[in-house]
Amino acid sequence: MKKFIVDMHTHSAFSHDGRAELKDMLATAQKMGVAFYGVSEHHDFDVQLDLIVNEDLRARLQAQAGEAYFHTARHLQEDYEGVMNVAVGAEFGFSDDESVKARYLAEYEKFRPDYVINSVHTMDGKDFAYFQFDGDKKTVYSAYLSLIRRSLDAPYPYDIVGHIGYAARYVSFENVDFDLDEFGEQLDDIFRTVIAKGKILEVNTASKQLKQRSIPDKPLLKRYYELGGRKICFGSDAHFPERIADKWEETIAALKEIGFTYLTLPFRGEEIQIEI
Ligand SMILES: [Zn+2]
Ligand SMILES: [Zn+2]
Repeated sequence: MKKFIVDMHTHSAFSHDGRAELKDMLATAQKMGVAFYGVSEHHDFDVQLDLIVNEDLRARLQAQAGEAYFHTARHLQEDYEGVMNVAVGAEFGFSDDESVKARYLAEYEKFRPDYVINSVHTMDGKDFAYFQFDGDKKTVYSAYLSLIRRSLDAPYPYDIVGHIGYAARYVSFENVDFDLDEFGEQLDDIFRTVIAKGKILEVNTASKQLKQRSIPDKPLLKRYYELGGRKICFGSDAHFPERIADKWEETIAALKEIGFTYLTLPFRGEEIQIEI
């Protein structure tokens, strides 16, 4: 049943919140028999640093990724040739700010990552992980989903649409689900656009304390499938070795139940299909 394990969303100490050295993440992945391992270090140019009061966190956000990351990761990629497929990617935190978008484009052109995950972590420069947003669920989620919709029109190249529903990990509403009854119109628009643009929808298993197995969760993935979406990929969003490919088997089983038959992995502008 195990076929190929792939994990296209991982971090290491090159990200501000990563907790292990990249070489140790790769060594663990190889030991686990991962066939295709994607490194997607944070590029959080969207975070408004002056809003971060914790000095240590601010310093880490400033220092993350960049030259040192790509240099080290490319070397490790070479070391693993013939042993495990390693993709050196990036996770870009989307912002409406034009100067932030320009920075991502410049970063892309400078380092040519093998693939890019485009994710929404912030609203107005504030990461959901560090700020509570005022307003009821309808207000906060509608604003969040509108931002995701705009992120799909990002002017820089990207392949994967990261963790739609991430906000749910950090809000304090009684029911944090993105119900299709309530947000179906916005979600349909997002899914249709993902499909029309030929992007890959991420199934992210860092659902933490949430009841659902993945972000987005099964009802949303089912809706995406109904609308014709077939391109999906798996990401654990591991920030330390023990979480690599976390919830792989149950997530793949849920995807197969919906009807998905393969994962789509981006690599240097190409797409690789992996049967599940
Ligand atoms: Zn993310
Ligand atoms: Zn991530």
